[in-house]
Amino acid sequence: MDALSRAGVARGGVDGTSYLYLYPSEPHPRYLFPYPTGHDVVGLLPGADPAHRDESVVVMAHYDHLGRDSRRHVFNGAYDDVAGVAAILELARAFGAAGYAPRRTVVWLITDEEESGLRGARAWAKNPTVPRDGIVLGISLDPIGRGLVPGYAFTALFGLEHSPELRERIAASRPALSRGDLLIAHRDLIPHPPFASDHDPFLNEGLPAVWFVNPGFSFYHQVTDEAATIQYDVLLESVRVLAQLVDSVANDDQRYPFVDEPAVEARDLAAFRAPIGGVLGALPDLGRSQRESLVGLDRRLAAIEVSGSFDPAEVEDLGLAAIAQLFTLGVTNPGPIPPPFPAGATAALR
Ligand SMILES: [Zn+2]
Repeated sequence: MDALSRAGVARGGVDGTSYLYLYPSEPHPRYLFPYPTGHDVVGLLPGADPAHRDESVVVMAHYDHLGRDSRRHVFNGAYDDVAGVAAILELARAFGAAGYAPRRTVVWLITDEEESGLRGARAWAKNPTVPRDGIVLGISLDPIGRGLVPGYAFTALFGLEHSPELRERIAASRPALSRGDLLIAHRDLIPHPPFASDHDPFLNEGLPAVWFVNPGFSFYHQVTDEAATIQYDVLLESVRVLAQLVDSVANDDQRYPFVDEPAVEARDLAAFRAPIGGVLGALPDLGRSQRESLVGLDRRLAAIEVSGSFDPAEVEDLGLAAIAQLFTLGVTNPGPIPPPFPAGATAALR
């Protein structure tokens, strides 16, 4: 909250006198959450255009994580999701320092209790502190700041299938947005559970939202997810992409009609060819069976890309296969850890 205050960010709690947004919750033993009240932190960059300042772009990251393990080691969650919070604080600072004045309001929503069930984002999305009808887009940064494997990082955007006009616009600006691969795919291709984030309560409320991720799972949900494992070049590139996305939407005067149950399209599946190609290029010494399995998956996706059609019964299998293979390769190929890596924190390397 001090960082938001120093950046000149307006207080975005219920009556505008505080950054805190309190909501009723319940203790959660697994996550060491002993309070009956959840605490989101909300800041505002008020829109400069009187005709559009009741409209808002909501940028989210969660500050909670997993508490302690059975041996009382703290899960610090640098990648998941301190880096997302850091991205918000830095962008808020940079916007303030530049005197940036977008037409629409930018909401910085730093959520509580994401890990224990998206409670902080859900509470705010149900009772937002800005006009609900004016929420143009929610962006959940979670997690960001690691590449998938050494030498290959990408940014993924999930959920834009609910906002087709915005999806087309972002897809068209892809070269300017990102120097790395930008994967745009259907949220339903990511299995839930276990994978969810703060954009989900927005989508459930019928609010356009996007899940902004750097998939990089080497230390995901482990006590080894420490600051020393963050790849700052990846984080910086993500903040650049985020800044352009926020700028583009906050200065727009279009709304993006919400599509309730968008179907998975061939391009949602074909999008996974980019990270598969990235991994194959970055890991030349990959074992034969893993390489063959990835190449086989890429062939199936290529056939879908070329024909533009697929058997709907295949979707779940293909999506799961792509996610499972990329996730496993991320876990088993953490690469060299930038020093100083915490002594004894080697669980993920075995
Ligand atoms: Zn997270």
